[in-house]
Amino acid sequence: MIKYFRGLSLVLKNYSDGFGHLLFTNVCLHCNNELVQTEKYLCFGCWEQLEATYYEKEKQANRIERMFWGRVPLHHASSVYFYAKGSVSQSLIRALKYDFKAPLGIFLGELMAQKLAEHPLRHCDYLLPVPIHPRKKFARGYNQSELLARGLSKSWGTPILNQLAKKKRYTNSQTKLDRLGRWDNVQDIFRSSEILTNGVHVLIVDDVITTGATLEALAKAIRAVNPEIQISLLSFAFTK
Ligand SMILES: [Zn+2]
Repeated sequence: MIKYFRGLSLVLKNYSDGFGHLLFTNVCLHCNNELVQTEKYLCFGCWEQLEATYYEKEKQANRIERMFWGRVPLHHASSVYFYAKGSVSQSLIRALKYDFKAPLGIFLGELMAQKLAEHPLRHCDYLLPVPIHPRKKFARGYNQSELLARGLSKSWGTPILNQLAKKKRYTNSQTKLDRLGRWDNVQDIFRSSEILTNGVHVLIVDDVITTGATLEALAKAIRAVNPEIQISLLSFAFTK
């Protein structure tokens, strides 16, 4: 037995002297610089570079709210950071979606909650993460929007209501489709259950808002069976 442990510790030592460094070193998700102990996910310089929208402080309709005018009635819509190619927020979203970084999602959700601590959205009744198809959830291991919602829920104490809507159709990545193509691709992809009492306020949580086509389809599906409720949107990032 002792011999076995000696052997094992030798293997671990060799491992940590070699590839272990690459595997266990904490690096910034944007610039790849090694992080110091007090830095989390990004180096301080990269956190500084995240471009805030400050929509939570605006009194007039923000760009996201205006984008949804005439498409689907929303109570509020907001996003915390801008999203652009090569930006720090893109690195965070990429890590959240593809690098199995579940704790990062909860952390970013808590950050969103902190930013909107004084905002009326903080008093919504339920959180609904944008549903993903079970096949995609199985492949990825989690729904990234649900992680953000879990961070918000942890901070605000607001319950998550996953049963409200499901994704019924598997959609391919929409990155190469234009706005019209996207709309064809997302129409009728969600189904919602009639489980809410009138006047309830639901906050849909998403990682990035681009054209808003998916969110529009989701909000319409919910409204179709729960016409008397209030729906709002909140995302971590918004394409400039
Ligand atoms: Zn950095």
